[in-house]
Amino acid sequence: VVSVRDARKAFGGADVLRGITLEVERGEVVAVIGPSGGGKSTLLRCMTLLETLDAGDLSYGDLAVARQDGSGKAIYARSDVLKQTRSRFGLVFQNYNLFPHYTVMRNITDAPVRVQKRPAAEVEQRARELVAKMGLKGCEDKVPCQLSGGQQQRVSIARALAMDPEVLFFDEPTSALDPELTTGVLRVIRELAAEHMTMVVVTHEMDFARDVADRVVFMDGGVIVEEGPAAQVLGDPREERTRAFLARQG
Ligand code: ATP
Ligand code: MG
Repeated sequence: VVSVRDARKAFGGADVLRGITLEVERGEVVAVIGPSGGGKSTLLRCMTLLETLDAGDLSYGDLAVARQDGSGKAIYARSDVLKQTRSRFGLVFQNYNLFPHYTVMRNITDAPVRVQKRPAAEVEQRARELVAKMGLKGCEDKVPCQLSGGQQQRVSIARALAMDPEVLFFDEPTSALDPELTTGVLRVIRELAAEHMTMVVVTHEMDFARDVADRVVFMDGGVIVEEGPAAQVLGDPREERTRAFLARQG
């Protein structure tokens, strides 16, 4: 579904991604873990075109988004290709990023109608299904400030799903939430995993990663130190750095 090869990114001389290669298969759930500053968010931002790679390749299925040229520089595809790419993934951030003055329904239906130009009636019906699925029935006409953080996060998941993405990216979807609100958000992500939604989840929730991820990727210092089946990486890590990190998670 999505693949990055030898991805590199620096900010003002500091190498943040130092050669990341990652392939996500259809139906797979990949958890990305690692210490603060290790480059997890930067990797997600590069994969979702919020940042550009300095070097390396990025592709979504048959769409070549960035290709490394002879000198190693990442050359991006034309804007129509990038636009097509953007409709293949959804992104859920830590702090929801909902439109504060739009209702729940409008937040969910806005992009499918305006950006994807899909028929309003069809989008509206899909949005109502998603509202129900996210446990938000009765909230359709509320605005974000009338909802709990957990509910807002579930709206932002519904909004991402309304675009019919091939892959969903999450960057610490629960780190702004109280433990009790976290549960509801993790539950809907678990349900999506059971339905074989392809997902890449940056998380600090190790139990959650163990439960839902097919594969765990441990990043530190801009490289993938270790990756493998969740049970192996979390239960019996090969690398000392992974061991040390997991020990600190308690
Ligand atoms: P955390 O677990 O705290 O979210 P992370 O693994 O997501 O950490 P990143 O946010 O990717 O780490 O940051 C990696 C490094 O890149 C950090 O040192 C950060 O300061 C730096 N960085 C990230 N974005 C920028 C930016 N836009 N400009 C300058 N430096 C940046
Ligand atoms: Mg981060």
